[in-house]
Amino acid sequence: MEYVYTFDGDFCDKHELGNKGANLVIMTGLGLPVPPGFVVTISAYKMYRDTGRLPEDAILRAMADLEQKMGRKLGEGLEVSIRSSAPVSMPGMMDTVLNIGNMEEVKASIRKIFASWDNPRAVEYRRLNNINPTLGTAAVIQAMVYGNLDERSGTGVVFSRNPSTGQKGLYGEFLMQAQGEDIVSGTRTPEPVSKLKQLLPAAYAEMQQIADKLESHFCDMQDMEFTIESGKLYMLQTRNGKRTGAAAIKIAIDMVNEGLITREEAVLRVTVNDIRQILHKQIQEPYKYQPLVKGLNAAPGAAKGKVVFDPVEAVALAKTDPSIILVRVETSPDDIQGIAVAAGVLTQKGGLTSHAAVVTRGMGKPCVCGAEGINIDTAAKQFTAGGITIKEGDEITIDGTSGLVYQGALPLSDAGFPPELEELMNIADGFKRLGIRANADTPEMIARAIRFGAEGIGLCRTERMFNAPERLAAIREFILAESPEKKTAAIDRLGELQVADFAALFKELKGLPIIIRLLDLPLHEFLPAENEVTDPVVKQRIAELKETNPMLGHRGVRLALTTPEIYAMQIKAIQEALKMVPANVSIMVPQVITDQEVLNVKRLLQGINVKFGVMMETVRACMRAGHLARAVDFFSFGTNDLTQAVYSFSREDAEKKFLPTYLKLGVLHDNPFEVLDVKGVGRLMETAIFWARRARKDIEIGVCGEQAGEPSTVAYLHGIGVNYVSCSPFRIPLARLVAAQVAIQDRLHRAAYDPSVSPINS
Ligand code: PEP
Ligand code: MG
Repeated sequence: MEYVYTFDGDFCDKHELGNKGANLVIMTGLGLPVPPGFVVTISAYKMYRDTGRLPEDAILRAMADLEQKMGRKLGEGLEVSIRSSAPVSMPGMMDTVLNIGNMEEVKASIRKIFASWDNPRAVEYRRLNNINPTLGTAAVIQAMVYGNLDERSGTGVVFSRNPSTGQKGLYGEFLMQAQGEDIVSGTRTPEPVSKLKQLLPAAYAEMQQIADKLESHFCDMQDMEFTIESGKLYMLQTRNGKRTGAAAIKIAIDMVNEGLITREEAVLRVTVNDIRQILHKQIQEPYKYQPLVKGLNAAPGAAKGKVVFDPVEAVALAKTDPSIILVRVETSPDDIQGIAVAAGVLTQKGGLTSHAAVVTRGMGKPCVCGAEGINIDTAAKQFTAGGITIKEGDEITIDGTSGLVYQGALPLSDAGFPPELEELMNIADGFKRLGIRANADTPEMIARAIRFGAEGIGLCRTERMFNAPERLAAIREFILAESPEKKTAAIDRLGELQVADFAALFKELKGLPIIIRLLDLPLHEFLPAENEVTDPVVKQRIAELKETNPMLGHRGVRLALTTPEIYAMQIKAIQEALKMVPANVSIMVPQVITDQEVLNVKRLLQGINVKFGVMMETVRACMRAGHLARAVDFFSFGTNDLTQAVYSFSREDAEKKFLPTYLKLGVLHDNPFEVLDVKGVGRLMETAIFWARRARKDIEIGVCGEQAGEPSTVAYLHGIGVNYVSCSPFRIPLARLVAAQVAIQDRLHRAAYDPSVSPINS
C-alpha cells in the first residue's frame, strides 16, 4: 500500500486522500494552476495512530520530488504548508501549519495535523454532525505561494454561485497583501471579490474560467480558496459549497436548465431541511444571540412578539397587534382561539405530540413546547428563565425549528414558496409513486394544503365541527334529552349546521378528493365537568357517561352501534352538502375492530354514493385485515392510535412521564409518535397490507397518523406499498420530495442489477 501520493498522479480516492487532497489531484489533472505537493494518506494516519510511526521514507521521496519540481530546496527558497484533509468536510476544526522550512518541522507538523483529528472541537463537531470518529484524516503538503508578497498579491475565498441566494456568478471576498489567516482572524475586513475585477482583471477572468471548469467537472457549486502571488493566480482548494435552502433549490433547478445535472440529480440533491428552511420564517444569524432557554422543537419556523399568558386576552389583543406569543404551562382544546391568533406558542410542559404541538403544526405556526427551564407565574403574569423575568407585554422570539427561545424581538427572514421550489416540486411529482394528501378540517387548511401540492384530503376530522358554542349546545341537548322528540330536534339542528360546514369544505376542494372521518370523540367530552353543574339530572347523566379509560372507551365506531343517530346525521349532512356543492367524497369510520361494525355503519349509508373505508388503528383490525378488506373500499392507517395500541402506551402520559427518559437512555431510538416504529407498528401494518391485498387486490391503502409526514417514515411507507400518506399541510412539500427521492433511488437500485432498467427517467 502507498502511503504518499503526489498531486500530479491519477489516484484521487477521497477515502485515502480526504476531500481536499483528492480535489487537489483532480484540479492538477484539469490543468489548473495548483502549487505542487503531495498527500500523506489516511492509511498513514491510521498507522501513525496505531504505532506512532510515519512513512518517513515515502515522505522524503515525495519532498525530493517537490524540490525538483520547484527547482528550490526546502528551507532554501522553498517553504510548504501542511493542512488536514478528511473524507468529510469539517471546516476549521483541525490544524494548519504554514511557512515550514525544514524536514524535522515537516514531520512534526504532520504529527500535529494527525493529532488534531482528536482535538476537542473536532470531536464535538463530529458528535454534532454524526460523523464517524474512526474515519481519520490525511495531511496535504503543498508548496507555499505568498498572498502577502507585494501589492499585486492577495488571497481569498470564492464561490461559483452565491451560497445564500444561489445566483450564478463569482461571490466571495479577498484581501490584498494577506495570507488566509488574515481573512479568518477578522483583523482586517475583506473586500467583495467583484472588486478584484478592477484591481487584477486578468486574474479575475481566469478565476471565472476556473470556476466554470470546476463546476462542469464536479457538477456542483464550488467553494474555492485562492492566492494571487505577484498577479499570478493559484488555486489552493475546492469543495462543493455549503448553501442555504433557498440557494440549494435554485442551484439544483438552474443546473438542470444549464444541462449540468439530470432532473433526478436535482431532486436527490435538495434536502428536507432545505425545504423546511424556506417554508418557514427563520431568525437571521441566530448564532449572534444567547438563548434564554431550550425546549422541544414542536412546530418549525420562528416568530416574535409580545408575551401573553391568557388565550382570551390574546384574542382581544390580536385585533390591534397580531405579533403575540402565547405562553402557557400547557395548552388544551379550550385555548384554540388564542393559538389561532398568536404568531407562535411556547409551553412549559408537553411533548412533541402534545396538544400545542399537534395543533400548531397543523396551522403552520411556530411552537416550542416542553420548555421545562421556564417557570410561569400565571397570577403575576410573568415567567422566569435563567434568572431573567419576562413580563406580559415583553417581547420574545421563539424558534420552533431549533426549540430555542430568545429575549427580545430578533430580525426574521421571510418565508415563501419561490418559483424554483414550485419547479422542483413539479419535477419531483413526475418521479414519485406515493400519493401525498393532507390532513385538514377547515376551508383555510384545505386551501393551504392545495397550495402546497396536496392531491386531496386524506383525513378530515369532524370533531372540531362540534366545538363552536351553538353546536356544543345542540350536542349537549341531544345527549341530555329526556324524550325522543327532543333528541331528534337537537340532532336535526346539529345536522343543519354540519351541512354548511361540509359545503364550505367542498367549495375549497377544486375537484380533489376528500375523506371525511365520522365523529371519534367520547360523548362525555361534550359535557361540562361534573362540579360545574347543579342540576341533579344532568349530574347523573355526566356520571353515567364518565369513563375510567376514555382513550380505550366509548368512542369511534362504537358510538355508531350504541347511538346511531350521530353518524346518521353526519352522513345525511354530507349528502345534503353534496347536493349544494358536488365533490369527490369518501367516508371512513374510526376505531374499527371487526367487519360486523362496518356492516352496521353501511346500513346508514343507504342512498349516498360515496366510497367507504375504515381507519386501521386497532391491533385487531390489522389482524382481521383480510376480512375487513372485503367489506370496504379503502383502509387508512391511523398510526397515532395504532402506536398507542401496539405499545400499550397512552401518548400524552408517555410523553409527559417516561418517554423522555427512554429516549435519553437510548431504550428507544425515536419517539414512536413522531417516527413510525418500523419494527413493531410497521410490521403489523405490513402483515395487514399483505392480507388485505390478498383479499382485495385493488384496495386503496393510506396512512394518516402524525408520523405519515415524517421524512424517514414517508420513505418506509413508499417501500411497503401504501398508496398515499396524509399529513399536515406544511409537511406536504417535504413528503413530495422524499417520495420522489425514494422512487428515484429504487430505480437506481434496480438499474444496478438489471441492465434493461435505465437509471434515468427523464
Ligand atoms: C390516528 O389515530 O392516527 C388518527 C389519525 O386519528 P386521531 O389522531 O384523530 O386519533
Ligand atoms: Mg385515531
